[in-house]
Parts: sequence; C-alpha cells; structure tokens
Amino acid sequence: MKIVKVDPTLCIGCGTCCAIADAIFHLSPEDGLSKVIIPNGELKTPEQEDLAGEARDSCPAGAISIEEK
Ligand code: SF4
Repeated sequence: MKIVKVDPTLCIGCGTCCAIADAIFHLSPEDGLSKVIIPNGELKTPEQEDLAGEARDSCPAGAISIEEK
C-alpha cells in the first residue's frame, strides 16, 4: 500500500497537484494549501498511484511524497 502526503511547510498553494489529480488533492479554502482528500492518503489503484506520482513530479515545491506503508 502506498500513501501520499503533502508537507504543509513546503506547499505554496500553486494548485498544480489539484489540476493533475482533483480526486486526490484539494486546495483548502482555509489556508490555501493542498490537502490529500482520499482516506488516510491510501492509493488504492494503479491509476491513483500514477496520478499521485505525476503530481509529485510536477510539484514545484517538492511538497508531495509517496511512501510505502
Ligand atoms: S503542486 Fe505542490 S506546491 Fe502546488 S499546491 Fe500541490 S502540493 Fe502545493
């Protein structure tokens, strides 16, 4: 199982991850930063893993990580 996370100390709220994978990431109206909206950040399908990986690789702040649980 892979887990995707956003580091709020690095995110600059650019919205790129949300544009790539709006079912996984969402810009919070409260602080303007990206939040992972899938339960526990668990990537359950290869498609989700691909999208999360694309978002990680596209994040200008290096704020997205994907870890094996
Ligand atoms: S792409 Fe990176 S910096 Fe931009 S909103 Fe997503 S996590 Fe934040």
